[in-house]
Amino acid sequence: MFRACTGRLLTLLSGLLLAAGASIAADSVTNSAQQGLRTENVVLIVPDGVRWQEVFTGAEKALLNDKEGGSWLDEKTLLENFWRDDVADRRRLLFPFLWGTVAQQGQLFGNKAAGSSAQVTNGVAFSYPGYNELVAGIGDPRIDSNEFGPNPNLTVFEWLNGQPDLRGRVAVYATWGTFGDIFNRERSGLHIQAGVRPKTGKLTPRDELLNELYATTTLLDANDLYNSFTQAAMLDYVKEAQPRVLFVGYGETDSWAHSGRYDLVLTAARQVDRFVEQLWNTMQSMPQYRGKTTFIVTTDHGRGSGPVDWKEHGMDSPGSEDIWIAVIGPDTPALGERRDIPPVTQAQVAATIAAFLGRDFRKAQPQAAAPLPDVLAPAPHAGRSQRP
Ligand SMILES: [Zn+2]
Repeated sequence: MFRACTGRLLTLLSGLLLAAGASIAADSVTNSAQQGLRTENVVLIVPDGVRWQEVFTGAEKALLNDKEGGSWLDEKTLLENFWRDDVADRRRLLFPFLWGTVAQQGQLFGNKAAGSSAQVTNGVAFSYPGYNELVAGIGDPRIDSNEFGPNPNLTVFEWLNGQPDLRGRVAVYATWGTFGDIFNRERSGLHIQAGVRPKTGKLTPRDELLNELYATTTLLDANDLYNSFTQAAMLDYVKEAQPRVLFVGYGETDSWAHSGRYDLVLTAARQVDRFVEQLWNTMQSMPQYRGKTTFIVTTDHGRGSGPVDWKEHGMDSPGSEDIWIAVIGPDTPALGERRDIPPVTQAQVAATIAAFLGRDFRKAQPQAAAPLPDVLAPAPHAGRSQRP
């Protein structure tokens, strides 16, 4: 009886949808396909506290030394590793994937010198408020400390995980233990691997090695794992569980800046670019992701400038509100480095993630900012377009 009714209802619904010009997939209607979008998976990747200056102009020469940059490498090696006279060569040397692939196939917001501003709206420009703004879509003045505790706001990750077709397919991998609070582990029920959390249960030899390294590695910050550990665990999870919505948080860039080591900031930033490329290539080799995956790469806050202030961020370091946002995927027109456009904000990222999956986050979180402009353009040749 129940099955028969369900069958008749489905037939009726199919008829209605077909009449409206849409078509229905054999097993389920995907919201994005209904809207002519090809994205079925979204990955938000956030290296902590990477300045727009490095993204758009590469290494800063005044900091490639021991005195201002705190480098342990000699200046000749620093220049070889990170300096080119031409700005396009220099930024590509630091971020080869961003400039070699994302800028060719996607978009980059936030080059202030080219008339593209991307800013945080939380007014404080440090980590927890920034991550909250990214994933909840609102700058929340209540969140005034990294030790704030469990996030009262609904994040787009928690919301998506509550939808039947995405339940259990939303995950968080990050170096910083505080993401357990930012994504409200208790309430959200998300799969969160953040900070030093040795794996339990059935362990592969690779898991056992990682657990041993968790226990024996001297960390710069006990609450912040090194990026390479998170990368290894995250790639294993992607291959095994194939999440459809994934957050990846990398921490070293901020920690090395606070430590006054510009050489290590640059080294970590370049390695993050390689990690992003590695994840992109891994996903493109898997049927679940190939041609159906959008990456958004951004940062939680900027930093100050000048010979000292590059190390810090927040209210006392002007410029910390300036960020950058990169987007690449099958629904994003290849507009490259954006120039002379209206400002965008960090708060727009949350609704953008949902929009790529054909959903409106602002139905659940009315205060969330609108999706980023111009990054979603349903392809006229997409398989199930509603467009004529
Ligand atoms: Zn910081």
